[in-house]
Amino acid sequence: MSRIAYVNGQYRDLRDASVNVEDRGYQFADGVYEVCEVRGRRLVDFPRHMARLQRSLRELRIAEPMPLSALGIVMHEVVRRNRVTYGLVYLQVTRGVARRDHAFPPNPVKPSVVVTARALNYEKNQQTAAKGIKVVTVPENRWPRVDIKSVSLLPNVLAKQEARERGAYEAWYVGSDGFITEGASSNAWIVTNDGRVVTRSADHGILAGITRAVLMEVMEALQIRLEERPFTLAEAHEAAEAFVTSASQIVMPVVAIDGQTVGNGQPGGIARRLREEFHRFSAFS
Ligand code: PLP
Repeated sequence: MSRIAYVNGQYRDLRDASVNVEDRGYQFADGVYEVCEVRGRRLVDFPRHMARLQRSLRELRIAEPMPLSALGIVMHEVVRRNRVTYGLVYLQVTRGVARRDHAFPPNPVKPSVVVTARALNYEKNQQTAAKGIKVVTVPENRWPRVDIKSVSLLPNVLAKQEARERGAYEAWYVGSDGFITEGASSNAWIVTNDGRVVTRSADHGILAGITRAVLMEVMEALQIRLEERPFTLAEAHEAAEAFVTSASQIVMPVVAIDGQTVGNGQPGGIARRLREEFHRFSAFS
């Protein structure tokens, strides 16, 4: 079955789907994106993803390409046309097409919209979660506006590649102050030896993950103690558990950091429980 992408008003076979070479997304990474988990053909926590998209667009002064309700219809349609029951739907909005010049186009152009969807292997993900993943640390080298979900992801690409080359799945950024900020494509968490879950506050230095926000509600409901504060690499090495969160991985246990095992080297009980409970608390659209 061929895959279908939505590109600027048209549903196209992925092999023929293309954007203009002068699209500012291509020329300058001048755009934003969102990724939603798809479960049972439905989009997980879609309204929150749209609210974050709106914020990212506003911060970069990119116009909304269409009403968000219409974007929702397109995203559902791409999921449907690709017959994705479990997987991801990806949305990208760029400032649009204009003659190459760094400053914004003098006459407003229409933002470009691309939506794709793909299936993930549920069993494989469950197996990965049952084993846990390894992370390595890398120096934080991103711009200060990582709160914007921009398509400008070169440092994240390099960090992820370094992780792969060092036999790990994810990279955690460590700031010059010694505190972990987040993963290359996930938020970072630890669990202390007395059962408190720790993650950095989302006021600066990280992307405000939607999975992170929902998980905090899960923890409140389950009466799991949460501390929103930065933590150091040394603290992570001493922690009972560690895990990462993202729309594609939900809660993914971390069993080693820079080659040193976390806790007993197995996925922790709190991370496992949070992964199991997560979808009871998420909204399905
Ligand atoms: N931080 C970064 C840098 C990310 O790229 C992502 C997701 O792609 C996240 C955090 C997690 O965000 P969410 O839970 O909304 O997927």
